[in-house]
Amino acid sequence: MAFTLPSLPYDFAALEPIIDSQTMQIHHGKHHGGYVSNLNKAIEGKSDIEKKSIEALIADLPSVPDDIRTAVRNNGGGHANHAMFWQIMAPPGNGGGGEPTGELLSAINSHFGSVAELKAKIADAGAKRFGSGWAWLVVKGGKLVVGSTANQDNPRMGDAIAGFSGIPILGVDVWEHAYYLKYQNRRPDYLAAWWSVVNWAKVAELYQAAH
Ligand code: MN
Repeated sequence: MAFTLPSLPYDFAALEPIIDSQTMQIHHGKHHGGYVSNLNKAIEGKSDIEKKSIEALIADLPSVPDDIRTAVRNNGGGHANHAMFWQIMAPPGNGGGGEPTGELLSAINSHFGSVAELKAKIADAGAKRFGSGWAWLVVKGGKLVVGSTANQDNPRMGDAIAGFSGIPILGVDVWEHAYYLKYQNRRPDYLAAWWSVVNWAKVAELYQAAH
């Protein structure tokens, strides 16, 4: 198998009460698991694609054969997006929540004015994304930028495909499957609560690697 479903770096219940255990089980096992399995089916036997990293694969969709490009976009994007999503979360009060520090904090303050303003921009991007998608903080040309994408598009796919581009360092899943059991239709409540599980140390690590 070219791609594998990564284990969660914590228990299914570890993000309670912000994200409930049942949501985590279904989200990781069924949704992310489904993206990995459908991606592998789409690229089966194509060894040049199977040996790429997921980031390299989704960043070069024009090179993917026409007949599997949509499957790779949707399922490869789904795999990349969720693999990062699990990593940038941690149990509330035990790696999750609090505030960014160091160079990342300085960059946020210089680009957005404050962490509160960054959070407001992410909440706005997530709330305004109609239907399913993701809200992102990316590094682009040395700058921090907030935006959103539809479905499982990832900013690495570029503007022409995803309508937004950059190297993602934080992303929040606004598909209903990410929050509906606990928050039902209240996406803004989920987005507000989500900051309590954000692993800023991991986001800082991604920031260091991205600029
Ligand atoms: Mn999801």
